[in-house]
Amino acid sequence: SETLAAPFVTDWLLRACDAMRDARVDLIELDRAIGDGDHGENMDRGFSAVREQLRDADAEAKSMSELLKSAAMTLMSTVGGAAGPLYGTALLNASRAADGDELDAAGTAELVAAALAGIQKRGKADRGEKTMVDAWGQAADAAREAADAGASAAEVWQAAAEGAAAGAQATVQMKATKGRASYLGERSIGHLDPGAESSRLILAAAAAAAEA
Ligand code: ADP
Ligand code: MG
Ligand code: MG
Repeated sequence: SETLAAPFVTDWLLRACDAMRDARVDLIELDRAIGDGDHGENMDRGFSAVREQLRDADAEAKSMSELLKSAAMTLMSTVGGAAGPLYGTALLNASRAADGDELDAAGTAELVAAALAGIQKRGKADRGEKTMVDAWGQAADAAREAADAGASAAEVWQAAAEGAAAGAQATVQMKATKGRASYLGERSIGHLDPGAESSRLILAAAAAAAEA
């Protein structure tokens, strides 16, 4: 069908849980290079808690908005570090954007833009500062463009995932000016930002769920 609904959000979150479990060591290594080495552990802990929550009996009755809000609260209280409040705010804003029973192409672009806005409101980072904002920023642009060009909701998610991948890759060349990696100054150049990488994986999980 052309629109997505609550089962899509559940599938997205579960795929993100799998992705964080699988990428745990990679994210730890990325964060060890320019941070304190805990990003993989933080994300896996948080998404494991989300997985537990989705096993609860009442999870199936929840709306898109309620599913995203519950995940936001759980991430906020379990991920910790810089990323916990940032992802929590992203999903909280996304839950407000996903206020209907269905998600179409335009709604998908709005959801991604809302998540980005939440991250920026919370973390005060602009694009080019070598953070997850670089992944979400390009994701939001690509999603908007695809939606304006008449793409389906699944195609908009695919565009967002591709934008996030490009945005994450672009952080390699950047000098960090926000977060822990900024303490390294010039020495942060040449490394992929761990939060941009986890964001790429979360948006890839959404694209895969939208396709399924
Ligand atoms: P901590 O740095 O507290 O150990 P994590 O390792 O879990 O937290 O997360 C680090 C990631 O958080 C970074 O790779 C970066 O993408 C993101 N980040 C840090 N500060 C900000 C910020 N102000 N705005 C957006 N993202 C940020
Ligand atoms: Mg860290
Ligand atoms: Mg830390």
